[in-house]
Formats: sequence, C-alpha cells, structure tokens
Amino acid sequence: MVKAEGVHKSYGAAHILKGIDLEVNNGEVFCLIGPSGSGKSTFLRCINHLEKINGGRLYVDGELVGYRQKGDKLYELKDSEVALKRRDIGMVFQRFNLFPHMTALANVMEAPMQVKGETKAVARERALKLLDRVGLGDKAGNYPSQLSGGQQQRVAIARALAMQPKLMLFDEPTSALDPELVGDVLDVMRDLAEDGMTMVVVTHEMGFAREVGDSLVFMDGGVVVESGHPRDVLTNPQHDRTKAFLSKVL
Ligand code: ATP
Ligand code: MG
Repeated sequence: MVKAEGVHKSYGAAHILKGIDLEVNNGEVFCLIGPSGSGKSTFLRCINHLEKINGGRLYVDGELVGYRQKGDKLYELKDSEVALKRRDIGMVFQRFNLFPHMTALANVMEAPMQVKGETKAVARERALKLLDRVGLGDKAGNYPSQLSGGQQQRVAIARALAMQPKLMLFDEPTSALDPELVGDVLDVMRDLAEDGMTMVVVTHEMGFAREVGDSLVFMDGGVVVESGHPRDVLTNPQHDRTKAFLSKVL
C-alpha cells in the first residue's frame, strides 16, 4: 500500500529525511516510533503529499505520490489531481481539529458532501453508522466543545472514515489526551485494524504497537534504524539507539 525507496526531505538547508526505505502491506498496522524531531510527522505528511519529497520514490497503492511517470520522466500532478488522490487517505492528528461550529454529525457528513458531492441523506446515514461504530451514536448532536478530548478524537476518526479511505494515517492520535481517555480511542483503532484497514500509526503507545501492530519501524535522525515485528523490536532491540529510546518510553 505504501512503498518508500530512498526518500529524502529537506526544509531549506535542514535535511530531515535521509533515505527512508520501507513498505507497508495491505491490511497491515504499521507503527512508526522514534524520538521527537526524528521526522515521523514529516514522513506521514509526505505520504499524502502535504510535503514534497526531494529525492527517492514514494508510492501509495502502486502509484507515485504527486507525480506521473512517462518513460523515465516524471511529471508533477496538478493540485486537482493530488486532491483526488488525497481523498483516499484519511489522516488523524494529535489535535482533533474538528470544525467547532458544527455538530459531530455535521463534521462527519461534511467532506463526503463537499468533496464527493454525496447527497445529504447518503452522507447522514453513513455518518450515523460511523458515529455508532466509534461509540458515539448518542452524541451526534453535540458540538466539539460539548465532547471530551477522547470523544472528539473518535469523531475525527469517524470523519476520516466517512471518505471511505484505503489508507489511514495516525499522527500520535492519543498523545494530547488525558490518560483515562486514551483507551477508548485505541479501542476504535483496534477495531479498525481487525476490520482490515491499512494503517500507519505514529505512536508512543508501545502496548498498542505490541498488541495490534504487524510491523514496527524505529526512526532516529531521519533514518530507519531498526524494523521488524513489534514484539521482536520492542522486546529484543538490536541497536543501541533503539535500546536507549525504548528504555525511556517503556
Ligand atoms: P515529534 O515526535 O516531536 O512529533 P517528529 O518525529 O514528528 O517529532 P517532525 O515533525 O517530522 O518530527 O520534524 C522533524 C524535523 O523537521 C524537526 O527538526 C522540525 O523542526 C523540522 N520541521 C518540520 N516541519 C518543518 C517545516 N515546515 N519547516 C522547517 N522545518 C520543519
Ligand atoms: Mg510528530
């Protein structure tokens, strides 16, 4: 579903991603861990072309991100073409950033109606099902300010799912939450994983990574230091940098 080959990303003179190679298989929960500033969010943003890469190749579902290839030449996609591809990728951030002036239901209905031109009735029916699925069937009429952080984050997940994405990107979805609210959000993610959704998850929740993750990559300084099955990497890290990081977070 996602393939990175020698992906480089710089901001001006700051070289952030220094040749990332990895592959996320269909239906897999792929966890990305690493210290602050190692480039995890940057890499996620490259996947849906919110950032342009400066070198290497990045594919989503077999297609180059942001480019069309003809022979050995690359042509940049138009904004409208990029937008079309981005519809297939759901993203959930650390901060919930729901539309504050809309109810939970309206938040979930918005993109399918605005972007895909779905009718209100169709969007509403799916949104109600999704809110039910994330355990918020009785909160459809609440505004974000009337929801807890964990509930807002679950609405944000439902909102991403409303576009029926083939890939979901999570950037530390629970790290802004009070500890007692984390579990409900992780349960929703676990349910999604069991349903076969392909997910790339940047997280500090090592328990989640160990139980739900199929693959795990430890990144540091813009490179992949170590990768493998979460249980192996977390219980038996091979590199000193991985060991040092895990000793701080486990
Ligand atoms: P954290 O765990 O704190 O979220 P991260 O691994 O997600 O860290 P990134 O947000 O990807 O790290 O940032 C990697 C580096 O890139 C940081 O040094 C950051 O300052 C830099 N950076 C990120 N975005 C930009 C930008 N738009 N312009 C310039 N530098 C940036
Ligand atoms: Mg980050």
